[in-house]
Amino acid sequence: MRNYYAAIQFWSYALLVVCLCPLAVLLGTYMDWPLGAAPLLLLTLPTILAAVSSPRICYWTITVLSVCACFAEVLFRTDISEVNPTYVLSILSAAVLIGMTLLIDLYVGKLQKTISQFDAQNDELVRRLYESQKEITPGFDNTNSLAETADTELDDPSDTSPTEKDVNYPLLLLTLQDIGRRISTNQSNESLIPTVISTAKASLQCEHCQVYLWDSKSRALKNPLPVRSRDKLDYRPDPNQGVAAWVIENRQIVMRNDADQDYRLKRILEEDPHMPDAIAPLTVGSELIGLLIIDKVDLDSPTIGRLIYILSNIYALGIKNSQLFKRIEEMASRDGLTGLLNHATFQEKLQKLTKTADAQSTTLSIIMSDIDHFKTFNDSFGHQAGDFVLKEVARIWKTVMPENAIVARYGGEEFIGVLLDHEYSQAMQIAEDLRETLENFPILFEGQQLQVTASFGVTEYRHPASTTNEFVRIADEYLYKAKESGRNQVVGMAPNSTRKPST
Ligand code: GH3
Ligand code: MG
Ligand code: MG
Repeated sequence: MRNYYAAIQFWSYALLVVCLCPLAVLLGTYMDWPLGAAPLLLLTLPTILAAVSSPRICYWTITVLSVCACFAEVLFRTDISEVNPTYVLSILSAAVLIGMTLLIDLYVGKLQKTISQFDAQNDELVRRLYESQKEITPGFDNTNSLAETADTELDDPSDTSPTEKDVNYPLLLLTLQDIGRRISTNQSNESLIPTVISTAKASLQCEHCQVYLWDSKSRALKNPLPVRSRDKLDYRPDPNQGVAAWVIENRQIVMRNDADQDYRLKRILEEDPHMPDAIAPLTVGSELIGLLIIDKVDLDSPTIGRLIYILSNIYALGIKNSQLFKRIEEMASRDGLTGLLNHATFQEKLQKLTKTADAQSTTLSIIMSDIDHFKTFNDSFGHQAGDFVLKEVARIWKTVMPENAIVARYGGEEFIGVLLDHEYSQAMQIAEDLRETLENFPILFEGQQLQVTASFGVTEYRHPASTTNEFVRIADEYLYKAKESGRNQVVGMAPNSTRKPST
């Protein structure tokens, strides 16, 4: 493809030069210019273009053609009447063309050499990073090779007095890019925090690292990891006093050796004798996300402060990203008014539950309910009161249903619950509890005491014969029967039962 393109280039320039040759003769004759002037004027541009854009062999051939054109003019100019016309200007024009090509040749050669050197350097860096990554096994604990790379490249242990000159910035950038990539691909905080810790330990070469998340409502710092997965670090940051409080207030990294540089910090550090080597704020803009706590790190390294600063910014963005992702997921799966699961999420969960019940032969029961005469209620007390009642009904469902039950707002004033490992009779009992609680629960809204009742349909999942749709449809059928029988009651039927529905 490349050769094909070069051939087209060559023949185009050659054709142009050959066509411009008679034109130069005509122009020279017409304008009565001295020999060499017209070819120089017309052929300079294509010669330069060829020299800049085509391969060497190609542009030198074009130059030779242009030079020939300068002398060809001598043969064809009829207006040159002298017996021995002077060729000085033709030679000069040819020399100018050759000179220009030579200059470009030299310049392009140097530029190409610089580019290829740069490419080689880049390839080498990528190769080294690739090799270091190849050694990293999947999972987040083993980041030794990254650590080794960071160790050898950032802070040569053989050098007793490291200077900033020793830092391999391109490799540092690639390491940071690698960390950024790992952080941004982890969406949940559960897997993100261990990644933050392992990459921080590897790139900072520290022994201990902990992340505390900031809860701005309660103004508290919480370690998101279970105690058994945390680093053994005998330090708990206090948001109200000591270095942690200073970091939260000033949003600045504090390192243990900062006491020598800042007289205000000296006092705070003296008050906090167990302060680890460094505490960095994790911030996104002006928002505090948490604290990064680092201990047993080389505080004498000239780049450590800057590295902690860059890493904490990357980590803060990653954590914020995962928090936002979790919130969006929550919002998409829950009903905005009651906070219960919405219809779509309920269906998804029910599919999974019935599959598990089929596989493990476990029992599932379902309770479906609908508030009685709710339209009339809205008409009498207003929709705001109706909304408040729906929230209260949801609260009752959450309180009465067992912890592991799935509760959702199925539609407008319809609620549904799936009971795991509960058979029909137990589900009937829980539905009856729900009905009774609702009937006897006075709902206070803007000084008024409101009260609603609901009807319930109950059924048990008969695996493996029934489908998920059938499961809900049967519960709905019994709910309809409860409505028909006068409302405010529970109706259901035991599985494989041929008798009449029980109330
Ligand atoms: P039934 O006893 O037969 O169930 O009578 P009903 O009036 O409850 O039945 P219907 O299904 O005809 O009416 C449901 C009403 O629920 C209609 C609507 O005004 C109300 N509703 C549905 N969603 C909401 C909501 O989000 N807020 C409020 N305030 N009302 C709602
Ligand atoms: Mg309804
Ligand atoms: Mg209703």
